[in-house]
Amino acid sequence: MNTPVPPARHWLLAEKRPALPPPGRGHRPLRKLIHLACFLVFLALPFANVMRFDIPRQRFFFAGFEVLISEFSILFFALMFLMFVIAVVAIMYGRVYCGYACPQMIFSEASTAVEAWTAGLARRWAAGPRARKLLGRGLFLAILAAASVFLAFVFMSYFIEPRDLLHRLLRLDLVSTGGILGASVTLLTFLDFTLVKQTFCTTVCPYGYFQGLLQDRHSLLVAYQDGTGACIDCKKCVRVCEMGIDIRKGPYQIECVHCGDCIDACDEVLAKVGHPGLIHYSWGGAVPSGTAEPWYRRWGLRDPKRFVILFVMVAYLSALGLTLYLRKPVLMRLTPDRTTLYTLLPDGSVANRVRMNLANRSPRAVEIRVWVEGLAGARVLLDRNPLTLAPGAALERTFDIAAPAGGQELNPIRVVIQSSDQAASDAAEMNFIMPTKGN
Ligand code: SF4
Ligand code: SF4
Repeated sequence: MNTPVPPARHWLLAEKRPALPPPGRGHRPLRKLIHLACFLVFLALPFANVMRFDIPRQRFFFAGFEVLISEFSILFFALMFLMFVIAVVAIMYGRVYCGYACPQMIFSEASTAVEAWTAGLARRWAAGPRARKLLGRGLFLAILAAASVFLAFVFMSYFIEPRDLLHRLLRLDLVSTGGILGASVTLLTFLDFTLVKQTFCTTVCPYGYFQGLLQDRHSLLVAYQDGTGACIDCKKCVRVCEMGIDIRKGPYQIECVHCGDCIDACDEVLAKVGHPGLIHYSWGGAVPSGTAEPWYRRWGLRDPKRFVILFVMVAYLSALGLTLYLRKPVLMRLTPDRTTLYTLLPDGSVANRVRMNLANRSPRAVEIRVWVEGLAGARVLLDRNPLTLAPGAALERTFDIAAPAGGQELNPIRVVIQSSDQAASDAAEMNFIMPTKGN
């Protein structure tokens, strides 16, 4: 008699075989602590302006600095630094980021824990399997719905100013682009953490594939090493694996996120028979030699390539820090415009033309004042002086400096430009040209 084959289910809807809870010792408690720290960082980054884009206002906030998207050098160094952080972490530590710090992994595991917790509550509160299933599932979905609104709000805060976003949320804005995007992200978050979870890591996450490409023979791995045939085939390492793989088949499986749960499981099982565990974190899959290594090798700096890439990363960070340090909130530049040497004004005075470039990169409006030093009777012919520059505004224009005729042909002067907050001033040294005697 043929055994009926169960109908195939779509991968999105397939119920994941629940992993056994791993033991409470070893790597997992540390990993959970790091998850909590990463979650707090995820919350803090946009709200403390440590890192976020403000797309409607075309700003980039980095380490408390408000940078215009047009400030190329800062954006370039920031992006290069982040790119090298990713490269350094992937080359040295393999997929440790996925298991320890990735939001997808953190919230997927949290969702699984909530699901188990609501199922436990339902077992206590409801009678009968159907009522328990309905209550457990209902509670889980209700909590996930609320959590999705919160997580989508935090995620969107990386791109839209949080107070603006809150107003849109409270108005249930489903009309503006920001509102529609917010609702879509909420729905995707809900579907992700109720249905997809870690399946995302092994199917569509480009970072996982990217990390696989960057790893080399010295990268950190989770490796099964059984030189003495001590494995008792209990399969606990397989059952605790949230990614559903058997690490005994090899350390280079794309699904492995180096979480270390199988290490803890094997340690616990084999400790009962007085044998050390067979699964370890290992550099490139090498069997630990037992001899002490210098600190830099223990931290993953195991060949010159790693020193070079770390040096490049630090160089980009230093360049970014220096650029931010030297950055002026109000950019002011004056240059003499020599398309005409001078012009004679109807009142008989002489005018020289100056080109002025201004950019207000600060979050406040500033007043800019211009004056001349070093030439008696010189005046600035601006229709408004001081002039007001709105936050984010840029201005390029020419104006005349006028002075009574007479005196020498070349007069060294200083044209000073200063913003109202006194935080920035600039001065251009130039020659004021008078007509030659007899002209
Ligand atoms: S094989 Fe081990 S380290 Fe890799 S994902 Fe599974 S439990 Fe984590
Ligand atoms: S937990 Fe250890 S002993 Fe058990 S199957 Fe896995 S590797 Fe073998």
